[in-house]
Amino acid sequence: MWPLSDLLAYPRYALHGRETFDAILEQSARLAQEKFAPHNRASDSNEPRFVDGRVHVIPEVKIALDAYAEAGFPALLADAADGGLQLPYSLALLSDAMFCAANVATVGYALLARGVGNLLRAHGSAEQKLRYGQPLLAGRWLGTMCLSEPQAGSSLADITTRAEPEGDGSYRLTGQKMWISGGDHELSENIVHLVLAKIPGGPPGVKGISLFIVPKFRVNDDGSLGQRNDVELAGINHKLGQRGIVNTFLKFGERGACIGHLVGPPHQGLAQMFHLMNEARIGVGMGAIMQGMAGYQYSLAYAKERRQGRHPDQKDPTSPPVPLVEHADVRRMLLQQKCYVEGAFALAIHGGRLIDAQVGSEDAEVRRLAALKLEFLTPVIKAWSGEWCTRANDLAIQVLGGYGYTREYPVEQNWRDNRLNPIHEGANGIQAIDLLGRKAMLGNGAALAAVLDDVRATIAATSTTAELTEFSRSLQECVATIEQTTRVLTACLAAGRARLALANAAHYLTLVGHVLIAWTWLRQAQVAVRALASAAGHDHDFYQGKINACRFFFRHELPTVLPLARLLQALDDTTLATTPGQL
Ligand SMILES: Cc1cc2nc3c(=O)[nH]c(=O)nc-3n(C[C@H](O)[C@H](O)[C@H](O)COP(=O)(O)OP(=O)(O)OC[C@H]3O[C@@H](n4cnc5c(N)ncnc54)[C@H](O)[C@@H]3O)c2cc1C
Repeated sequence: MWPLSDLLAYPRYALHGRETFDAILEQSARLAQEKFAPHNRASDSNEPRFVDGRVHVIPEVKIALDAYAEAGFPALLADAADGGLQLPYSLALLSDAMFCAANVATVGYALLARGVGNLLRAHGSAEQKLRYGQPLLAGRWLGTMCLSEPQAGSSLADITTRAEPEGDGSYRLTGQKMWISGGDHELSENIVHLVLAKIPGGPPGVKGISLFIVPKFRVNDDGSLGQRNDVELAGINHKLGQRGIVNTFLKFGERGACIGHLVGPPHQGLAQMFHLMNEARIGVGMGAIMQGMAGYQYSLAYAKERRQGRHPDQKDPTSPPVPLVEHADVRRMLLQQKCYVEGAFALAIHGGRLIDAQVGSEDAEVRRLAALKLEFLTPVIKAWSGEWCTRANDLAIQVLGGYGYTREYPVEQNWRDNRLNPIHEGANGIQAIDLLGRKAMLGNGAALAAVLDDVRATIAATSTTAELTEFSRSLQECVATIEQTTRVLTACLAAGRARLALANAAHYLTLVGHVLIAWTWLRQAQVAVRALASAAGHDHDFYQGKINACRFFFRHELPTVLPLARLLQALDDTTLATTPGQL
């Protein structure tokens, strides 16, 4: 649909061939199966423990991370000049997808470290890239992102961690950071914390936030490890899911000796973090999709095996029971899962392709358009996938019935692991406000228009294909609905009535998300119709399955958002009108 081999045309990736892409994916699949999947359950049942001031993690986690590092995965994205493999982001996304499906908690340590390394390469000084970036690239060190504080999660404007200049170029940090994934452990020689803090005297709010490197162990000029920095593990959070990755409450500078190093100019911290947010959020979306995918695959296999009941027209009680998958309502639950996870997967890969175009294309206009579309699509990929792929996990539990509700089967862990995704990396409610309050207005509506142009191109290409005209027409109507709804809401915003305009932003994100997922289904069906002509056996089922899933999504799922569009266009104020006392 969006073939990866196209990326070889970009000069940035021309040093590779198709065989490198295949080799990376094969190696990812092998490593995920052999080193990550086998302890997924064990690390969930034996979550990290904080004993005598140390974090204890089951040994399989380190073995897996060491194998990951040894195979060179931390360096997938970095420039060849820095010792990286300089591969496309969409390829890394596919590789990440396999590890996330196998064991999202263990790979979480490595993906965080990759994010820290990417950020340092983008904004760090040459010396910082060498001192901290290189060990991260080699997989010897791990890293964290320290944004949240106990009193400041969604609203980072309210962080209180302070960084006082020491006079020698370094800073002394004091403050507390909450929810920090991978915040302390002995899985690596050192941990590089990237910490958001405010330098006294800076502007108020987010404009006064700066970014600091705070290593767990200070690093000497020759790269060797020095004394322990003043970063104290104050406690471990006990989570619903993703239990294998330690989640920490950290205190910086309790003894007045926490030394940090400013990254880039002062007061640019949030912008620097956001530089990589699109990538991180598409990664979160993919993580959610793969939990959904794992649950879907498991419940599908189960439904083919487990026999229960008979068809409504089979009256003979002595006839053998049929497999669950024979029941229309079970097929409904499987089709819903398939639609959510495979539709969202296609949208996430499209997002990955846009990142590659933005980084790799030589054409300035292609880069500009890719960046614009990405701005609009990122909150949708993150939040829609988080919500609907968790719903897919809920359906997987339902397919297994009582067995799905026990810890003997993996679908409950998939659900618990996925439940984080609508919360972190910007809660879904915040993503919805961002989509409507900022992204829909971006460039005077140019970002939305560019995304809808791509949708229209698919509508035009499928409008005369007999099997697809019904869906093509339906999608055209939905595009008009989005445009009309956006006009009403942005006019309300422009009139200064932000509270009313944004009150139902979550519905706007669902509307836009469903329409974009419908678009990916129409594209998949377009490919399937062409391929079906010469397909046989398993391939025939695969392509026919895509066309049927497209039909299911357009007929059963897409129409459910039309009442939301009506509410949005009516500027419904029910939530605003309901006072806290009335709740
Ligand atoms: C397991 C886990 C791992 C995490 N890992 C990290 C990490 O590694 N590093 C890090 O820095 N942080 C991390 N976080 C923190 C995470 O990003 C925050 O939990 C998240 O940003 C929400 O902040 P909060 O928990 O303080 O909730 P709050 O900000 O209190 O939000 C609570 C609810 O209110 C809603 N809400 C808040 N403000 C508004 C508003 N203005 N308008 C409408 N609705 C609003 C939110 O959508 C949310 O549903 C992690 C969290 C968890 C649970």
